[in-house]
Parts: sequence; structure tokens; C-alpha cells
Amino acid sequence: MFLIRPNPNSTESLQGYTFRLARANGYRLSQLSSFVSSKSVRFRSFRPEDRVVIKACLVAMTGHTSVNNLFDPWQHHQKHKELFDYKRIKVCSSCVSTSSRTHFLWWFKNYLVCHDHQEILIEKCSKCFTALTEQALVAMQCTKCNTLISEMQSETQQPDKLTLYIKDHLDAVNVVDIECALNKILDRILALKPYVRLIPGEMFRTWHHPEINEASINKLVDIQSNAMALFKNREHTKKSLLNRISQDKDKLSISAKMHDFSSYLSHPNNTQFKTDLADTLRTNAKKLDSFDIELTWLEKVYGIERSKIRSLLDSIDPSILNGKARLNSKCLYILSDLIDDKS
Ligand SMILES: [Zn+2]
Ligand SMILES: [Zn+2]
Repeated sequence: MFLIRPNPNSTESLQGYTFRLARANGYRLSQLSSFVSSKSVRFRSFRPEDRVVIKACLVAMTGHTSVNNLFDPWQHHQKHKELFDYKRIKVCSSCVSTSSRTHFLWWFKNYLVCHDHQEILIEKCSKCFTALTEQALVAMQCTKCNTLISEMQSETQQPDKLTLYIKDHLDAVNVVDIECALNKILDRILALKPYVRLIPGEMFRTWHHPEINEASINKLVDIQSNAMALFKNREHTKKSLLNRISQDKDKLSISAKMHDFSSYLSHPNNTQFKTDLADTLRTNAKKLDSFDIELTWLEKVYGIERSKIRSLLDSIDPSILNGKARLNSKCLYILSDLIDDKS
């Protein structure tokens, strides 16, 4: 079936290898899928147990046991689907022109710039702008105008810090600790989410659903660079938070002002963000405009039970809360002073 059986390379994915195998033997993607699929298992199955069968099938067909070590993004769909771009195909044309192979890192949704060539990955033919497809990777050319992928034009770009984070955690990774590496990357992406929301211009939807919003890769690099810069600079984060809190003048309560951020306040990946928010409120307590701060919200941000907050404030002056479950921001400094005294 396969007269030519190239050696698998540790930098390519299982898919990349099978596309190369198809190309070497003159098959189309549909033919290849039907060879590799068995009676019980489809080549495109996302079930982890099916992926093991597919690998075994490819080992038998090629005689290369190292197929087992190839990274298979489809195997991680169940646990880590947020990490991958299963619909968009992205490539570095310089990598393709030097090795004629694809890199497994290109499957990662947030890996956007080739770390070897400092070139932005391309997802469309640079001549006719047709989106790249898996069949284009088999043929290594545009399926519409036949321009070779190796000859497609790209832009020079410094890799953003999230792209490098992904690369660093998967460099020379072996099959044993891949789960651990994927979890770390996912944690970092989850931790970054509130910072993306802090970037002016409503960038979150674009970043989170690039396929729906047709965001260019350049745009996504820009968003990731800004989010990582905020994440690394906590003073900068606090300034942005204060801007956000002071901006929505027509919103009467903090939970309305910070509506987009509420899901991050109880997530373990967002501890740093929560601490910075608590600090921002505390250090700016005297300057804040008048709005309501729900005790439930303070409980989440400061990590102090509502009943404790209530008894602390009531012990100073029962008219501060006046029996209500919310505090006026003008009185937040009283609570802040109490917390500072305790710590
Ligand atoms: Zn490259
Ligand atoms: Zn084209």
C-alpha cells in the first residue's frame, strides 16, 4: 500500500506524518483516510482509545515503531480541546521550504509565530487568499492556484511570549510528561483570560473565537503580546483595573462594572488577578466614585466571609451598612483600614 515509507520525525504530528506519507506515495487525503481507518475505527476519530488503534495501524503499515511517539492533537481533544485549532491550518513556509515537513506546534491555537524563522504563521495562500486545508498540506500547495506552500510569503515577527511559552514547554517533550506540559499551557491560557479582557477595544471575542471573528494571525499576536505584558507587569494591571472601575460611571454596582470579570474571581488560575483587583480597590478606596459593592463580591475578592465583614463594619458603626448587603464604595476605605490593621 505504501511503497515509500519515510522515517517519522519527532517535530511533526501524527497527522503531519500521514500527510507526508500520502504525498510520498501519490495518494489524496481521502484515499489515505480510508487506508488508515479500520472497520471499527475512523482515521478522524477524537476518541483517545481509537487514536491508539490508528497509531498501531500506521506502525503496521510503515514498519516504523517511532510512529507511536508522534504528537497527536486529536488524541487530546477530550481533555484539552481548548488548546488546539482543529479547523484552522497554520504553517511556516520557511520551515516547509527547508524540511518539507510540518511542525506539531502549528496545531496549537496560540502558537502563532515560528520560533525558528521569526515569521508569522500563514493560514491562507499568499497569492489567492484561499484558506489552507489538510489536502493543501498533503500536496504542499494551494488547492486553488497551486502556489507551493514553500513559496508563500510571510511577515517577519518576533514571537510573542505565549507562543514561546508553548514552545518551551513542549521542546523535547517525551510521551510520558506530555499531559503535564499540556496542563501547564492550559493553566497559562486560563490565567491570561482576564488580562485579555482588560485590553481596550473588546479583544476577548476576537481572541477567544478567531474562527468566527476572522481575526488575522497578526491581530492575535498583538492581543497575546498585550495580554502577556499586562500579566507580567502588575502595576500596569492595577492601573488598567482602576480605569475599568472608574470608566463605567452609569453602572451603579461593582458587579455590574466588573461583570465580565466575575467568573475569574473564584477560579484558582486567576489568583494573581484577584489579588491585584483587591489591592487596586484597597489602595484607591478614598478616591473611588460612589457605587455599591455587594458583600458577596467583597467576600470573593478579599477572601473574607460576608458575616465577618458585616460584624467588622457594624462594630465600628452600624449605619455604614444600615442592615443592607452592600457597602457604598465611599466607605470601602473603612473596611480596607480594618483589613490592613489585621494583616
Ligand atoms: Zn519556520
Ligand atoms: Zn492560492
